Amino acid sequence: MSIPSEQWAQVIEETGKPPVYKKIPVGKPGPNEVLVNIKYSGVCHTDLHAMLGDWPLATKMPLVGGHEGAGVVVARGDLVKDVAIGDHVGVKWINGSCLNCSFCRQMDEPLCEEATLSGYTVDGSFQQYCVANADCVARIPKDVSLEAVAPVLCAGITVYKGLKESGARPGQFVAIVGAGGGLGNMAIQYAKAMGLHVIAIDGGDEKRENTLSLGATTYVDYTTSKDLVADVKAATPDGNGPEAVILLAVSELPFQQASQYVRPHGTVICIGLPAKAYLKAPVFETVIRMVTIKGSYVGNRQDTAEAIDFFARGLINAPYKVVGLSELANVYELMHAGKVVGRYVVDTSK
Ligand code: NAD
Ligand code: ZN
Repeated sequence: MSIPSEQWAQVIEETGKPPVYKKIPVGKPGPNEVLVNIKYSGVCHTDLHAMLGDWPLATKMPLVGGHEGAGVVVARGDLVKDVAIGDHVGVKWINGSCLNCSFCRQMDEPLCEEATLSGYTVDGSFQQYCVANADCVARIPKDVSLEAVAPVLCAGITVYKGLKESGARPGQFVAIVGAGGGLGNMAIQYAKAMGLHVIAIDGGDEKRENTLSLGATTYVDYTTSKDLVADVKAATPDGNGPEAVILLAVSELPFQQASQYVRPHGTVICIGLPAKAYLKAPVFETVIRMVTIKGSYVGNRQDTAEAIDFFARGLINAPYKVVGLSELANVYELMHAGKVVGRYVVDTSK
């Protein structure tokens, strides 16, 4: 397999400005790394946050974004033993971690202080050839479609982990806030596969149809509901609210509302990362209703393997649209306007 010296990529050259589609050199893998010929990459709202400089964490600059890259290994470093040329792998948010600190030793590699982040602190998957740490690439079975699995590599892993962190058990109810977006659609499918009832919360009729068709039992439209807290509680059989809430929205208000409609002794899982937002909940009600509020951040290598296994068994079917890598800036515009239903996946050959 011949590896070119140059490739097409989407490069952010200045924070706040759209990426530039241009040719850049192909990277070389270090001793522990692989070079992945990225075929498809999902577009996550995190990529837009990175472009806009929304978070209190600096990005590499210039930056190639992207962290849902699915492709084929074309080269590997001298120390790589268990990933072979030709293997199908995924470049995910955690590009590499030390694997030896107290967090990594407990399988919490997203918490590793030396973790590198694809499309944020190192170049990511919006290029045709991407370098990633061999220990951290997702292993993808060869009979799994690379374009369909791409959104699993961040959206799928993250919501699967969040659902596990919520402690919700089969037969219980989960409210998914931002259910019509990329993570939201995946969350509905994973929740369903895990035996949960889903209350979908998002805005507009297109997202109503989309979320109900994916298996949500109720849809609450935050743009038209007169009393969202009452509507969510009313969607559960005894009116006491869902056992778990998965917050995926990109605005602050839902983060303040969730503790009011979660069931007493229930758990609110925060995953969405709206810019400059704060969590606020009344101490009195949080205490006497025994509410748990926690953050959840991507997933470890085991969560990755499990999330891909759900997908490989045919349990996860979330819609996605494929466009060329050259059209990435248009996808960001639609996403910024809240108009993306499900996920966009870019094809790096176009
Ligand atoms: P997306 O743009 O595809 O979806 C966001 C959805 O939220 C949209 O459908 C939008 O209509 C909806 N929404 C906005 N305001 C709402 C409100 N008030 N109530 C209900 N719904 C509302 O984005 P995405 O790619 O699914 O990402 C979602 C968020 O998750 C982003 O902030 C992203 O950075 C974050 N994220 C976090 C992790 C993590 O590990 N914690 C991982 C991946 C992504
Ligand atoms: Zn992501």
